[in-house]
Amino acid sequence: MKENYLGVDVCSLTYDEITSSLFHKIENSQKSFIVAINPEKIMKAQTDENLRGLLNKADYQIPDGIGVILASKIRGGNIRERVTGIDMMITLCREAEKRGKSIFLYGAKPGIADQAKIQLEKQFPKLHIAGTMHGYEKDEEVVKKTINEANPDIIFVALGSPTQEYWIIRHMDKLAPKVYQGVGGSFDVISG
Ligand code: UDP
Repeated sequence: MKENYLGVDVCSLTYDEITSSLFHKIENSQKSFIVAINPEKIMKAQTDENLRGLLNKADYQIPDGIGVILASKIRGGNIRERVTGIDMMITLCREAEKRGKSIFLYGAKPGIADQAKIQLEKQFPKLHIAGTMHGYEKDEEVVKKTINEANPDIIFVALGSPTQEYWIIRHMDKLAPKVYQGVGGSFDVISG
């Protein structure tokens, strides 16, 4: 299920396999942390032990970079497809809509998460978007309270990497959501 590249774990599951595993965990009230792995993060992790530890603590390190797929092929590994952060997010939104689960959008400049919400609602009319919060609120208590009151099943965190991953690991035990995915600049892309 996991392969290791220069000390960094990478998950060898497809979108479908990750999705069914994640929703199974939601049903069992288990928490999950998804991080996208690309060559840049693997290179940074070579000299940054904290970052390496953080990446390896995630439950799903998705192979978001063609370099990792190639390395797996050369090594006779089992990584079959590229799983990008943004496509993983869209896949989870589609599945959440189907299964009646809710999402929350946290991060990006003021207004962007709201715009992304509008776009996602167009694409997934029945998706329950429990709330949004921009990524420049300095008072962490306000952020935590907003998220917990919205009580979503899945939260997408768009604070840039590795800030979002450090944020997730620091807070996931105390927050309501079950699934935590760091999505970088995805809200900027989705908002149009
Ligand atoms: N961001 C944020 N709060 C911050 C710093 C950054 O919400 O304190 C947001 C920023 O507005 C952007 C995203 O984080 O939407 C970072 O996007 P980028 O493409 O730089 O991230 P990467 O995918 O490279 O990690």
